[in-house]
Amino acid sequence: MTRPDPITDAVKRNLCTGCGACAGAFPAAIRMVDDPVNGRRPVVAPGGEAAARQAARLCAGTGMDFASLPANDGFGPVLAAWEGHASDTEIRHRGSSGGAVTALALFALQRGLVRGVAHIAARSDDPRLNAAVISHDRDGLLRGAGSRYAQASPVEALGAIASGMVPVAFIGKPCDVASVAKAKAADPALAAKLPLTIAIFCAGAPNLQATDRLLDRLAVPKDATLTDLRYRGNGWPGLMQARYRDAAGVERVSEGIPYATGWGRILQAERRWRCRICTDHTGAFADISVGDPWHNPPDGDEAQGRSLIVARTPAGLALVKAALAAGVLVATPQPQDVIARAQPNLVVAQGAVWGRRLAMRAFFMPVPKDRGLPLFSAWLALPMRARLSSVAGTARRIWRQRLWRNVVVRGIEE
Ligand SMILES: Cc1cc2nc3c(=O)[nH]c(=O)nc-3n(C[C@H](O)[C@H](O)[C@H](O)COP(=O)(O)OP(=O)(O)OC[C@H]3O[C@@H](n4cnc5c(N)ncnc54)[C@H](O)[C@@H]3O)c2cc1C
Ligand code: SF4
Ligand code: SF4
Repeated sequence: MTRPDPITDAVKRNLCTGCGACAGAFPAAIRMVDDPVNGRRPVVAPGGEAAARQAARLCAGTGMDFASLPANDGFGPVLAAWEGHASDTEIRHRGSSGGAVTALALFALQRGLVRGVAHIAARSDDPRLNAAVISHDRDGLLRGAGSRYAQASPVEALGAIASGMVPVAFIGKPCDVASVAKAKAADPALAAKLPLTIAIFCAGAPNLQATDRLLDRLAVPKDATLTDLRYRGNGWPGLMQARYRDAAGVERVSEGIPYATGWGRILQAERRWRCRICTDHTGAFADISVGDPWHNPPDGDEAQGRSLIVARTPAGLALVKAALAAGVLVATPQPQDVIARAQPNLVVAQGAVWGRRLAMRAFFMPVPKDRGLPLFSAWLALPMRARLSSVAGTARRIWRQRLWRNVVVRGIEE
């Protein structure tokens, strides 16, 4: 049997992260579809094989070269770190943690560093789904504030950025930013149009099925029209809550459940397999990365938010420093090892990758060709029990879920 084109192959063999770079760069040949189980995934049109071969150069799902980074200890380069928040109280309140991402993106627009910001926002026709958008002002950016624990493909904006005439900042998960980094490395003209990338930390993206389970837990009736769904924000970490129009046309607000309940009991179980073998949860390839300072946890779900802000490149460092000097961000410096202290779950997740990939190899499953990361020593640093479970638990999961089988993408419309 002939091997399919490299994009179809990446999807089929479960290496795709759903970033959207391939479809963004070659929209005539590749489109993203929302598969409720497998996530948002690309489908190559008949005759699109040549485009798919070119698109494969942008794909970080099949592997990244971490050796190209100035630091590759597993959490990427850290030039400086802070804990703080947006000084704009609405941005801080609506933001997922402290609104630092939205505040920095807005500052980059206001300073003229960029003329647009590519990010994702909930689709107005179906807020369970997300669309890649480019915003030009505060209102546009506020559409995206707050994390969406759902499938999303922000790099679909790549085509618009490449064909546009203005510099654009990019916001996305680490795997999204990694594909943007590959695209920039492959095309200097594109790189000049993308002077700033901001990554959000990411433990894994749940699928559409998980969102539907969340809506059931929030008691949103099946015949209602969903008008808004929040996973985070409006406080830190905020409540998961929906708005909808019931069958009689009356606007309603659902019960709100704490983030810990929604993530812990509903969403995290539906993270995609690709996320469980992810080697970059904190945005090593970004100019700036932002996450939660969980080492200094919020005092209740509706606390005032704080973000952990990490400058990774000189350009990122300059922007954060300028935002602090302008009073756009209020933040205090943190030690350079703060990521590991704030995210012990991500240290464990990163450590387990070597063991998980070992189990996959035993089943002849392909693994991403990531280079330049100390995966084995991160695994060795785990307690014995965690090491064993990363191998034996994965083997069990592969067997039970038949994970060696090809992924078949079925969009919700099919
Ligand atoms: C699936 C997921 C898992 C996460 N896991 C962790 C974790 O383990 N540890 C941790 O510290 N933080 C995690 N975060 C990030 C955290 O929730 C905050 O996004 C981060 O602290 C930034 O907060 P902020 O208030 O500065 O951002 P905001 O000002 O609220 O801006 C958030 C930005 O992220 C973009 N965005 C939201 N959802 C997505 C998405 N699904 N894909 C691409 N872009 C998106 C929005 O468009 C917006 O521009 C996760 C986020 C997501 C979406
Ligand atoms: S990871 Fe991104 S670029 Fe690679 S196949 Fe998936 S959507 Fe396309
Ligand atoms: S865990 Fe990794 S692969 Fe999965 S969505 Fe997050 S950054 Fe992407």
